[in-house]
Amino acid sequence: MNDTSQINTAAMQRFGRLVANHRLAHAYLLVGPQGSGKTRTALCLAQMVNCESAAQKPCGECPACRKIAAGNHPDVHILGNDEMDSIKIEDIRFLLGRAHLMAYEAKTKVFIIRNIELMTMEAANALLKTLEEPAPNTLMILTTRALENNLDTVKSRCHVVKFFPKEEIIPNNRKILDEMLLNRNNDSFLKELSADPKETTHALRLLLSFFRDVLLLKNGVSKTILVHQDCLQEVEKFAARGFEDLALIIRQIIQTKGLVDENLNVKMSLSLLREHIWVN
Ligand SMILES: [Zn+2]
Repeated sequence: MNDTSQINTAAMQRFGRLVANHRLAHAYLLVGPQGSGKTRTALCLAQMVNCESAAQKPCGECPACRKIAAGNHPDVHILGNDEMDSIKIEDIRFLLGRAHLMAYEAKTKVFIIRNIELMTMEAANALLKTLEEPAPNTLMILTTRALENNLDTVKSRCHVVKFFPKEEIIPNNRKILDEMLLNRNNDSFLKELSADPKETTHALRLLLSFFRDVLLLKNGVSKTILVHQDCLQEVEKFAARGFEDLALIIRQIIQTKGLVDENLNVKMSLSLLREHIWVN
């Protein structure tokens, strides 16, 4: 999960009112770019509907809240991550197989499916059946980075909640992309970045999502569905490069991320990445 994402307080206030008035629907679709806090908000809602506190929900302290935060609540299931290429029908079937089972300990079983635009057609149709005939005491929270890329039939069965990127994240992301893609003499930036593994991971994920946009554009998809709307010019510039060039860059990003994961020094690897980016 993107570490810099935050819970969307406006959305949580709205969910709080719905829960208090017993008006919560059985399916929500959270729409927003990567890092806009969709998954964190989904987990916070899962806590809210299962919190055991008599006062403020979610309390963050009771066993249910703690288990959900730790990712080991038996009735709160998450499918999907930002590195997945697609969500297949087997994934959906495995997840939804649990929807009709008795809840172990939850008041409400929660299914969070991230990035549903990655569902294959078969997977989307399997999910659709569950949305049409929801199991009792079940809450589906779906997320997507691009509303347009989903089936109308799926969208129409969910309440859509739009998320916007947090203001404080944009300048930082913008700075990372500017330094990595527009500044050839970024030694001091790379030095600073490589000293902070968490920040390096964030930067590498951001670059991966940027180059995902580049590949999508190169493959002819509409600009309107790209994540990095604020730097379309750069996306276009890189999309003009050859596939082999782009593959080198992407491989180097992934390799560098591997080094970070193993706590190894990434300064050299980041410099090599810069060379691939500035090949011409
Ligand atoms: Zn609680």
